[in-house]
Amino acid sequence: MKKFLEDFKKFALRGNVLDMAVGVIIGGAFTGIVTSLTSNFITPLLSLIMTGGPGVDENGVAWTLGAAASSFLTTVINFLITAFVLFCLIRSINKLLTIGKKKEAPAPTTKKCPYCLSEIPLEATRCPHCTSELKK
Ligand SMILES: [Zn+2]
Repeated sequence: MKKFLEDFKKFALRGNVLDMAVGVIIGGAFTGIVTSLTSNFITPLLSLIMTGGPGVDENGVAWTLGAAASSFLTTVINFLITAFVLFCLIRSINKLLTIGKKKEAPAPTTKKCPYCLSEIPLEATRCPHCTSELKK
């Protein structure tokens, strides 16, 4: 159980929870596309086949298809907008996370002189405090 909690903590901190949330949202939006495809095209087509025949009004069929196409297009556009907004959101969150990490661990620009233990520039070949020559 303790191991489980540790693993969960690692999992949550690594940002996988974020990825998963995105996956769920994208998955939901994609389900919308599939549902729209079914309800706008396949169901009317099936009912047309079931009830159709020589007496089917051609104008009515054209109108149904037009309405279905625009409805489906709306769903696809909704999906694209959702994906785009999520993409921007995740990008900015990742940027914030990177900035936080950079602040935590700045690249070292100084080193310690092995003779007097003073902080001296990384590139120094002679210590400014005790004037010892330093190996690179
Ligand atoms: Zn020194």
